[in-house]
Amino acid sequence: MEPPGTETITQRVHSVLSAIQAATEKAGRRPDSVRLVAATKTVTVDRIREGIAAGLSILGENRVQEALSKVKELAHEPVRWHFIGQLQRRKVRSVVGLFDMIHSVDSLGLAQEIDRRAGEAGLLQDILLEVNIGGESTKAGFHSDDLASAVSTMGALTHIRIKGLMTIPPPTDEAESARTYFRRLRELAGAIAERNIPGVAMGELSMGMSNDYDVAIQEGATLVRVGSAIFGARHG
Ligand SMILES: *Cc1c(COP(=O)(O)O)cnc(C)c1O
Repeated sequence: MEPPGTETITQRVHSVLSAIQAATEKAGRRPDSVRLVAATKTVTVDRIREGIAAGLSILGENRVQEALSKVKELAHEPVRWHFIGQLQRRKVRSVVGLFDMIHSVDSLGLAQEIDRRAGEAGLLQDILLEVNIGGESTKAGFHSDDLASAVSTMGALTHIRIKGLMTIPPPTDEAESARTYFRRLRELAGAIAERNIPGVAMGELSMGMSNDYDVAIQEGATLVRVGSAIFGARHG
């Protein structure tokens, strides 16, 4: 239950969508160049339905079991699904094909498994490569230095399409402190794009969350993943 007087999900969806639009315009970018992925982990389907009615069109889930039951329950809603959480190899089979995009491909082995399962299912799976842009020892993702060679190998996999990069920068108190990491991700994508590796595109940058999506858009984000600014603080 929301405390009385606070904004509804509908109001928050509208304000996040207009803030995205304003940031995009201010950055001199095309209005449709940034898409909102609503991060819906732990959010009930009723609350998600309210968000969809208010204009959410892409939902991002983190956990496979939770995602599968929500996909089923919301099957008749006009939404697309993205997978944004850490993905274990043994669960790849159940996510391939269900999600338009897997944002969180953090190793060559995972990319190979997605390719193998997509091949078996006869599909082409779009993915993003997650980069540990702050070089944190506890965080998943490719290290910047290893990315180029891994991408060359992955480019040869015929059942995945690499569409760009994703990152979760080190936690900071101020949105402005994330700017340097967002910029680094954009530069890294640019450097890889210049190599013209067959099968590899770098058009998508998934970066920016509730506290810093504005800065991320200024630095080139094409997908922002926003949870608490829409659904409120998560409890567990
Ligand atoms: C939860 C989550 C988000 C959204 O975070 P908020 O701070 O609630 O906006 C974005 N990306 C990933 C990978 C997440 O797990």
